[in-house]
Amino acid sequence: MAIDQVDYDLPNSKNLWSMYGLNMSNSLVDKSLVKLSQAGLRLTKQRRAMLEALVIAEKPMSAEEVHAKLYSGTCDLVTVYRSLEQFERVGVVQLGVRENGTKVYCLSHGLDHHHHLTCRICGRTERVDLCMAEELEKVGRSYGFTELSHVMELFGACPECKKEA
Ligand SMILES: [Zn+2]
Ligand SMILES: [Zn+2]
Ligand SMILES: [Zn+2]
Repeated sequence: MAIDQVDYDLPNSKNLWSMYGLNMSNSLVDKSLVKLSQAGLRLTKQRRAMLEALVIAEKPMSAEEVHAKLYSGTCDLVTVYRSLEQFERVGVVQLGVRENGTKVYCLSHGLDHHHHLTCRICGRTERVDLCMAEELEKVGRSYGFTELSHVMELFGACPECKKEA
């Protein structure tokens, strides 16, 4: 990566984070920025703002939702879409999908591969560490497929929502 592509130094978003009182989560944004730069992606203020929005959200978000969390004028929705796809490709965010088919992206549960259990009433989301990648990819390879990926989502009604019903 060329030096002139770096919009600011890595990694120190402490000042911004202390504003939110969320020092703990700071490292997740920093780790993501390091991973982005290792993958050769530019570290822009816009991308940092998207990563911060994803961590603060504490659950997976759609591109529209990430865009709505940014200060107005930060960047357009198309840039958010494109950046989230790039984040996913380099393994910084986990791709998920809602029951209506909307793509969602998760960073708040950590950088490592995981899945989700989502309440279809309130949207509360739990991290799920069960993954069948090995079995699924074996099936894919048996058909001669390469560059395999998978999406696995679990939906239901959480106990709080059931209580109120
Ligand atoms: Zn997650
Ligand atoms: Zn619920
Ligand atoms: Zn998986």
